[in-house]
Amino acid sequence: MTEYEMPDPVVRIEDAREAARDLVVIPNRGVQLVPNIGIVGGSHSVLVVETGMGPENAEAVLKFATEVARGRRLYLTTTHFHPEHAFGAQVFAGEATFLINKAQAEDLAVKGPGYLEMFKGLGEAVARRLDGVRLARPDLVYDTDYDLDLGGRTVQLRATGRAHSKGDQIVTVPDAGVMFTGDLVESGQFAIFPWFPPHDIDVSGTRWLAVMERLVAERPRVVVPGHGDVGDARLLEDVRDYLHVLREETWLRRGSAMSEETIVEEVAAVMVARHPEWEGREWIEKGVGCLCYEHSVR
Ligand SMILES: [Zn+2]
Repeated sequence: MTEYEMPDPVVRIEDAREAARDLVVIPNRGVQLVPNIGIVGGSHSVLVVETGMGPENAEAVLKFATEVARGRRLYLTTTHFHPEHAFGAQVFAGEATFLINKAQAEDLAVKGPGYLEMFKGLGEAVARRLDGVRLARPDLVYDTDYDLDLGGRTVQLRATGRAHSKGDQIVTVPDAGVMFTGDLVESGQFAIFPWFPPHDIDVSGTRWLAVMERLVAERPRVVVPGHGDVGDARLLEDVRDYLHVLREETWLRRGSAMSEETIVEEVAAVMVARHPEWEGREWIEKGVGCLCYEHSVR
């Protein structure tokens, strides 16, 4: 990952567009380490979902959100603690109420510093964005679910339990049928498995699959993934099916005497054949590694 120079992960406010009434998405335009960002309004309050990476991006998001809010009270939440999603929250201090689920708050406090250092190693542009990052502390922490009243519109914050990270949460706007999934769902790319043993082994392929089965059953009209184009419920089904096949193909081979290296090779070939257009093929190997581990501890 270090040999490749990452592009500057800049959030482009000018690309913002309404995905539903009083619900704006600032799209990531396919740029790595830029998340899809949401701004959801009610009669008296506005919720921002994700900060972008680093203080400068977050300042741009806050300025835009303040314009959209026109005097309404601001809230901030993040789908999980990873740097491009949450490492800008410090900028919102005193301007917005920062609320997240408990497991995510723990992730941010415990793993945040290590991720900050790791991401600084991803190239100059990324390191510049992370300059001056202080890990923010949430103003409000909930356990597993929280209904946020924005005035005439309630947003549901739901911790999913360990999946892509230990502290993932889903943000749903039921009246508009919109679901923000964070990195539990990406469009046009293979599922991101942050499987970095021995430093980080929180991602769970089996739990993630179970989460996706639950989310598919909710049938949202609009799905805003962590990265990639906004879509519909098919995005959820795609990830569910991918994780299912990834587990089956990995475990089928894990039961034999095959080496992990060969398993990776064979499973990657199956997955690339199923999704030749998807990016991020390097994440297949991480996913297989995670599922091999989970097979051994079943
Ligand atoms: Zn992530």
